[in-house]
Amino acid sequence: MREEEIRPRNLFDEYLRLAALDAEKYFGRSSRRSVLCPACGAQGERVFSKHGFSYEECPVCQTLFVSPRPPAPDFFRYYQKSDSARFFATTFYRETAEARREKLWRPKAAKVKEVLQKYGVGQYAVIDIGGGYGILAEEYERLTGTPVTVIEPSSTLAEICRQKGLSVVEEFLERVDGGQLPAGPKAFVSFELFEHLHDSEVFLRQLTTLMQSGDVFFFTTLSGMGVDIQVLWEESKSISLQHLNFFNPKSVRMLLERHGFRVLHVDTPGRLDIDILYNNQTRITDRFWRNFLASATQEEMQRWQDFVADQGRSSHMHVICQRP
Ligand SMILES: [Zn+2]
Repeated sequence: MREEEIRPRNLFDEYLRLAALDAEKYFGRSSRRSVLCPACGAQGERVFSKHGFSYEECPVCQTLFVSPRPPAPDFFRYYQKSDSARFFATTFYRETAEARREKLWRPKAAKVKEVLQKYGVGQYAVIDIGGGYGILAEEYERLTGTPVTVIEPSSTLAEICRQKGLSVVEEFLERVDGGQLPAGPKAFVSFELFEHLHDSEVFLRQLTTLMQSGDVFFFTTLSGMGVDIQVLWEESKSISLQHLNFFNPKSVRMLLERHGFRVLHVDTPGRLDIDILYNNQTRITDRFWRNFLASATQEEMQRWQDFVADQGRSSHMHVICQRP
């Protein structure tokens, strides 16, 4: 898989251009509140600023996070009204939908099936938090015959899911009532949502109230310790205003255990880190990586990617945990 296939450069750069403008428009005059490390609660150390947001790194667990933060309602307004959020949800998504279905969602549905079976929860009702266009839900239903409930706060996306015949709860997870979900054992899933959370404490507290003993939560998110983010740092395109938390394999465990979850598995099966570095060579200052990318063969790069993923150093992280 190549970055270009799921994130064509011209579309992604246009989204990032709009996002930089929206950062000023929607947050330029926002009030800000300092936050501690969202994983372990330690005081972070400032590492850089980008688009008017200040980023801190936790000296204890290396979580990278935005602090101080604008209030949550400013983000709701941004997601509902901004040009960049609309561009991402319409133009970007529409033009990449089929490639993403093929390259991302179909394999992801297979992965969900594999993971849930592995942990003996394959028959559980599946709830997709932030289900977007419902593509994972469609693919999972097609693959397993098991219906999926989508939790999706955007009315436009919720309507698209309903038109596909999916069961939808049109709400932020933080406001979902247990009665709106299927009864019985549940497997909650969420993909590329966790890095967006304004307050992961509120999210996880709410999630635990919706979970019963034995229920599982399987999610993917960005690891800030991933090699492309570490090398590119503030030049990384993953560092953009929608992303507030970059946990890592160590810190996400601390976070979940603090909330009483049993962590079953954390890994980083990413496939794009080296390709992302290759596509951003001019932004890299580190001599080793510059010269590696200038001289390595495709085969060498693939072997490095496999090693990075295997060692937990990719920026794409999978996490599965269970309510004891
Ligand atoms: Zn920390």
